[in-house]
Amino acid sequence: MNNTSIKQGQVSELLEKITESATLAMARMSRELAQQGHKVVSLSLGEPDFDTPDFIKDAAKKAIDENFTHYPPVNGFLDVREAICRKFLRDNQLQYSPDQIVISTGAKQSIANTILALVNPGDEVLMPSPYWVSYAEIVKIAGGTPVELLASIDNDFKITPSQLEAAIKPNTKLIIYSSPCNPTGSVYSKSELEQFAAVIEKHDELYVISDEIYELINFSGKTHSIAAVGNMIHRTITVNGVSKAFAMTGWRMGYIGAPKWIAEACTKMQGQITSGPSTISQMATKAAVDADPDSVAHMIEIFKKRRDLVYGMLKEIPGIKVNLPEGAFYFFPDVSDYFGKKDGDQVINNANDLSMYLLRKELVAVVTGEAFGDPNCIRISYAAAEETLIEAMNRIKKALAALR
Ligand code: PMP
Ligand code: GLU
Repeated sequence: MNNTSIKQGQVSELLEKITESATLAMARMSRELAQQGHKVVSLSLGEPDFDTPDFIKDAAKKAIDENFTHYPPVNGFLDVREAICRKFLRDNQLQYSPDQIVISTGAKQSIANTILALVNPGDEVLMPSPYWVSYAEIVKIAGGTPVELLASIDNDFKITPSQLEAAIKPNTKLIIYSSPCNPTGSVYSKSELEQFAAVIEKHDELYVISDEIYELINFSGKTHSIAAVGNMIHRTITVNGVSKAFAMTGWRMGYIGAPKWIAEACTKMQGQITSGPSTISQMATKAAVDADPDSVAHMIEIFKKRRDLVYGMLKEIPGIKVNLPEGAFYFFPDVSDYFGKKDGDQVINNANDLSMYLLRKELVAVVTGEAFGDPNCIRISYAAAEETLIEAMNRIKKALAALR
């Protein structure tokens, strides 16, 4: 999956230590096959297929006309940070001041800033597994050690407080998780977060990155922020953004709410890397976060219908074990029943083999679970039209039926 034109030995040792983003690699491969004329169905990338709502696009057009075209403050415009504070209070009961907000070039950069600002070589970062692909690689860039806390499909892919407690060591610096979770769709309840907080608060200098980018895409009612529990606000970096809920992946906008000293540290890091987030995207983001979250309720309804559709179809495929995700737009089925089976002389030994087999045999792109910490699973994004999903599920079923 690594890009073979990279000259090994010529590039930095750091670059050699990290792997290409598996989600982006699979998206690249399906794009290349499509360019060659193949009818690829790509369920690899976690990206809404909707267009950005018009009221957000209008705010960006206005920003251009009003000449918001100069360098912004490194941490973002004050009025946009104020709007983000209002959003945190309205939706998450989190009281942040504008100097606790840092706006970045996507939530991915928000996470990278934070990890680079806090993690020293030798520090451990706990990641409930399955986890989002980029967490482990960013930790490695910082010289830290990612430590997986394994959760299984039988526990709805959630870790327990005692598992967390047992994993904390003197050199554990951070815990990072997403809820709703990419890739499993699991959502931690308020009481589960309270139990985690009770464990974490026993340890000084232990911090949490709570990745809430899928906050609005949840089908179980409200999601909860760990920063709103006990004194956790003083040790939580709450990550959010507009990519997913507002269909704004290309605008590259994410943000954090954090203790002031961490916000300052992230600003210092960002100032040397991007100088600050796009001015035009910031004005679009202000319109998005100021809007009533109900303005995107129609998209969430559609995601829910698709989830139910795909769930029904996946359950009918023999040998696939699947849970019902409560949020985000992914399924993470266990496909290990197929390991050891063959199509001709091609043997399927693991989820990597299976995802490549699905791409070659029936031109369906999914992502191997190995990149998310679970080599028994594959990730299927259902952020696609119903007819595309039906076609994809039929192709997956057909390809799997050919394995003996
Ligand atoms: N966190 C998670 C869990 C994600 O799935 C993604 C993918 N987009 C991100 C962060 C990064 O989002 P952004 O597009 O805002 O960089
Ligand atoms: N977060 C999305 C995904 O998991 C987009 C790709 C990426 O940024 O890695 O597919």
